[in-house]
Amino acid sequence: MARLSVADGVLKGIECSDGRTVVADRVVLACGGKSWPELGGTGGGYALARQAGHTIVEPAPALVPLITGEKWPEKLAGVSLPHSRVWIDLPRQSKAGLAGGLLLTHHGLSGPAILDLSGAVAVLLREGPVPIRIELLAGVDVAAWRGRFDAWRTAAGSRSVVSLLREYLPESLCVALCEQAGVAPSTTMAQLPATGRDALAGLLGALPFTVTDTKGFDVAFVTRGGVKLSEVAPATLASRLLPGLFLAGELLDLDGPCGGFNLQWAFASGHLAGRSAVGRD
Ligand SMILES: Cc1cc2nc3c(=O)[nH]c(=O)nc-3n(C[C@H](O)[C@H](O)[C@H](O)COP(=O)(O)OP(=O)(O)OC[C@H]3O[C@@H](n4cnc5c(N)ncnc54)[C@H](O)[C@@H]3O)c2cc1C
Repeated sequence: MARLSVADGVLKGIECSDGRTVVADRVVLACGGKSWPELGGTGGGYALARQAGHTIVEPAPALVPLITGEKWPEKLAGVSLPHSRVWIDLPRQSKAGLAGGLLLTHHGLSGPAILDLSGAVAVLLREGPVPIRIELLAGVDVAAWRGRFDAWRTAAGSRSVVSLLREYLPESLCVALCEQAGVAPSTTMAQLPATGRDALAGLLGALPFTVTDTKGFDVAFVTRGGVKLSEVAPATLASRLLPGLFLAGELLDLDGPCGGFNLQWAFASGHLAGRSAVGRD
């Protein structure tokens, strides 16, 4: 395994795994994180950074699909919603959550909103299963659904629950939600009892899931955690612990949501660390 060559606290270069030594008084570490090992995410940079005395914030997979205790999404794998809102249903967690696409999978949940939430969920999973909730149509909460049902009872009493709901959501999902609410899909709005209305509104506005695991580093797009940011000078990305060492990219404890932010960080930080290392800042 490669090692930093350091003598009396002075950086001398790199000792390569094949026995060669590269002499250098400045070194940029840009080894990435632990995610998607097939593409090079080995986590090998953490050992090098530790050698320089850096603290590694415990890595967790992020931008990663989630596995749920509930098995019913399996039957609907591939069903997607364009704009849901998902939040972690625990004290001290923001109920504002994150909005975006949602995808039901063979193992649970994916899609941009879930991926964006997954890093926080992965960290919380260290303490046990994590409850999350989903507003299937972002902005339409439980009370709003209840109001819609009451309006439909007056304006469309002869129509079935599913025929109304499928104007907003995929039919297969509407049927599954009716089953969970104990409402026969053919029930008309006029027949829908208040208990069925409340059960359906509760599912549509705050669908509960228990996350039991993530799909892991093997398929995580990024790694949360890494070299502690306060140990690196933000203007140059120079190590505050070992002069001559610079750090960039996903190796650092910084990750972003879907949308190109992680690549942007990798490119921008690599550029900055490289320029700083050759003294052009
Ligand atoms: C499938 C996938 C899709 C993604 N899609 C997006 C996207 O759409 N938008 C986005 O913003 N981000 C995306 N990402 C994340 C993004 O690719 C990474 O955040 C970014 O590439 C990190 O760049 P990096 O240079 O820090 O690390 P990496 O790209 O991981 O590069 C690190 C390199 O260092 C090498 N290395 C590791 N240890 C050593 C060592 N000891 N010695 C020598 N070399 C070593 C590794 O082999 C690797 O080649 C995606 C990631 C994956 C896996």
